[in-house]
Amino acid sequence: MIRNWVNDMKIDILTLFPEMFEGPLTSSIIKRARDKGLLDINMTNIRDFAYDKHRVVDDYPFGGGAGMVMKPEPIFEAVEFVRRKGGPSTPRVILLCPQGKVFNQEMAKNLVKETHLILICGHYEGIDERVREKLVDEEISIGDFVLTGGEIPAMVLVDSLSRMIPGVLKEEESFLTDSFYDGLLEYPQYTRPREYEGMTVPEILLSGDHEKIRVWRRRMSLKRTLKRRPDLLKKSALAEEDKKLLQMLKDEEA
Ligand code: SAM
Repeated sequence: MIRNWVNDMKIDILTLFPEMFEGPLTSSIIKRARDKGLLDINMTNIRDFAYDKHRVVDDYPFGGGAGMVMKPEPIFEAVEFVRRKGGPSTPRVILLCPQGKVFNQEMAKNLVKETHLILICGHYEGIDERVREKLVDEEISIGDFVLTGGEIPAMVLVDSLSRMIPGVLKEEESFLTDSFYDGLLEYPQYTRPREYEGMTVPEILLSGDHEKIRVWRRRMSLKRTLKRRPDLLKKSALAEEDKKLLQMLKDEEA
């Protein structure tokens, strides 16, 4: 269990396009988490904190160049508003940014321990550097590519965190055996029918022998990881049983 206290998790999303979140945050497991009161998500429109009557939130970059840059004042004020509303908790402020640390399961495991997150979604050419310097605790990227805005990356974060909050997933949907959770890729999964167009389910999964099934799954996890992501094996703390299975797999390949 990652979070063994009863608090729900609060996430404030600061964006210029709150409507983009309709759908992803109102469906499936995230909806269930919100309905159960385990996840409290609030949207704040940065435009509501613009100074002028035209609600301008961006401007030309000093020094010239293409595109518009998000102005600092509305973002500072939106964060201040959310902090005041959030009471005494000290929220962790995250900027979604292609220059940030690339998100992975390990980071998700650490972030889900927080009780309050503020996610800032950039747009256009990005945000004024002073936001990054003064307001932000951590910058997170979802990969080495550039998207139009931080909204989709924010959804990725919310989705990955929500499924680790205790009580959100049903027991049979546990995240503990998912790929990356313990540093390996997941074993192959099968469901009914037993045979489809000549392709059969491995006999061992039908055997009812739980120990044999456990060892087979572990072996398949290691085999997949060795083949597809050997880099993960270097980082994971393998148990003695895993090391033996891995050696057997390597000997078979040799
Ligand atoms: N000019 C910026 C740069 O080169 O680093 C890119 C700005 S991007 C077009 C606009 C916004 O999208 C960013 O401020 C960020 O919030 C978001 N964004 C784009 N790609 C992202 C990624 N890979 N991970 C997280 N956020 C991203």
